[in-house]
Amino acid sequence: MDELRPASLGTDADALALRAQLLAVQSSLVEGRWTETESVGQALYDSARAAGNIEISAEAALAVAKALFNVDRLDSAEDWCKRTREAAVQGGLTALHATGWVVSAAVRARLDRTTDAIAAVAEALDRLDSSMPAAARRTVYFGVAITYRGLGLWTHAADAWRAAVEVDRASDGGDGTMISRLNLIECGLRAHDDLCEIDAPAAEVLLHEMLAMEPEVCRFAATLPAGWYRFRSHHMLGALLVRRSCFVPALSMLQLAVSQETGHPNAAQGAAWLDLGRAQAGLGNHTAARASAAQARTRLDGDERGPGGLRPLPGLHDLWRVERMRGNHDAAVALLAQHHQRVVRNVQALLDAQVAGLTRQLSAKTLSLQNADLRERNAGLARSFQDISRVADTDPLTGVLNRRAIEAAFATLQLQGRRFVVAMIDLDHFKAINDTYSHGVGDAVLRRVTATLQDGLRAPDRLGRYGGEEFTLLLAEADLAGGAVIVERLRLRVAAVDWSVLARGLVVTFSAGLVGVGSGEGFDEAVARADRLLYQAKHLGRNRVVDGLPTAV
Ligand code: GH3
Ligand code: MG
Ligand code: MG
Repeated sequence: MDELRPASLGTDADALALRAQLLAVQSSLVEGRWTETESVGQALYDSARAAGNIEISAEAALAVAKALFNVDRLDSAEDWCKRTREAAVQGGLTALHATGWVVSAAVRARLDRTTDAIAAVAEALDRLDSSMPAAARRTVYFGVAITYRGLGLWTHAADAWRAAVEVDRASDGGDGTMISRLNLIECGLRAHDDLCEIDAPAAEVLLHEMLAMEPEVCRFAATLPAGWYRFRSHHMLGALLVRRSCFVPALSMLQLAVSQETGHPNAAQGAAWLDLGRAQAGLGNHTAARASAAQARTRLDGDERGPGGLRPLPGLHDLWRVERMRGNHDAAVALLAQHHQRVVRNVQALLDAQVAGLTRQLSAKTLSLQNADLRERNAGLARSFQDISRVADTDPLTGVLNRRAIEAAFATLQLQGRRFVVAMIDLDHFKAINDTYSHGVGDAVLRRVTATLQDGLRAPDRLGRYGGEEFTLLLAEADLAGGAVIVERLRLRVAAVDWSVLARGLVVTFSAGLVGVGSGEGFDEAVARADRLLYQAKHLGRNRVVDGLPTAV
């Protein structure tokens, strides 16, 4: 019957059939059936070319390139990007041309070809214009973000995700926004974690931006069926809670995330276990944290390695934190050095590209920031090397011993057979301080309190952060009565600080319980006894010290 059909109808029907095939190819891509995308897409590319339908051939080539990228067949992916661009040029299809470049950029970043990746981003951004369909613009920003993420340039990646979210918002909204948003949160939190070590106020600003998206992500997560996006939403919500030090809800959220991880990409699973470990460590459960870190390590080891055994940068970023959590400091230092070396090189390449006038728009905005960041990073790296062993024993926020170190100090005193006193100190109504004055003020209070306590201590005494706003104090060579005098003096010192400097109307006090340590008594036992007295101090109205001595009559 074909030959009886008028030529024009025949062409339309062929075009429709090709479009239907393209939709099938694109669905298989979205649904993760990438082998199918590859084979059906290649066949479609050939038949579209034979039929002279340049647009469909370009779209098919693009789908094949993306599928190959997803399965890490990077050289072939690059070939198919090239075919996409050739067809786009032939058909005068600017959006597809830009997209063909941006997928190349992501492929090259994965191949560790930084300069080429940045050049491809520039090519893509140069073709971007506001008359382009929203979906195409989003794809370009999406690809730029994936490229920068692959290069470990988190602030740049976050900017690109932000742009993708904006395009979505201005158009139909829909799931694309939420997916971009989850990725934006991920990159934002990575940037936050790095910034924490060099510029805490800037990190705080970034965290607040991420937190603004929390309610929407919560609603989104509740509507999702089991699978990748639900896992990812739970992970991101838990990760946000960890950064806010809300460790208890973080723990349940992250446990939920890792309980549904099966089948998801290894790097993402590893990152979720790492955050779970952070929540456990925040609650003082270091044994559990180390076990989670080991789980993270297993998954990160399953992460596909790139050419030359190069680990993708996000995985490397997680891995050094994993090894630090596991207490493998030498391994952590080596990974940190490797990570910084690559990131610093990538930032440098971006700067060079800008000097050469290669990057515009998106990059220009954050480049000066990242330039300053680079200098800071170098300084930070040098400090990291010096500090790594101290860091292992130190609570990063307050600079006092961390829980593991205070436990070790306890064991040393016990071994020396010295008599000593353990005090548990807990800030009063600290949650209200956070709620009333912000988490930033809360953090500043923790730092100021510890500095005040340290100031009032003798050299052999040890102060550690037990967790949250609770501190453990070891008073060497002290009996219970002497210890009570010291802790009471500390209580008065803290209450006497001019807290209004931090925030108007701010008042800070603590309650404490203290016990003399029996010979052979373990850390947990002594802490539990001191905690019971601390509880009494709270019950009696707070801002007081309870020492368990009989009350004088
Ligand atoms: P109480 O007088 O009974 O001790 O009341 P509280 O509000 O101090 O006790 P609660 O344990 O309910 O609250 C402790 C708060 O400490 C909750 C948590 O968000 C906050 N917190 C824990 N770690 C940090 C931190 O590193 N920074 C800040 N800003 N807050 C923290
Ligand atoms: Mg408490
Ligand atoms: Mg408290």
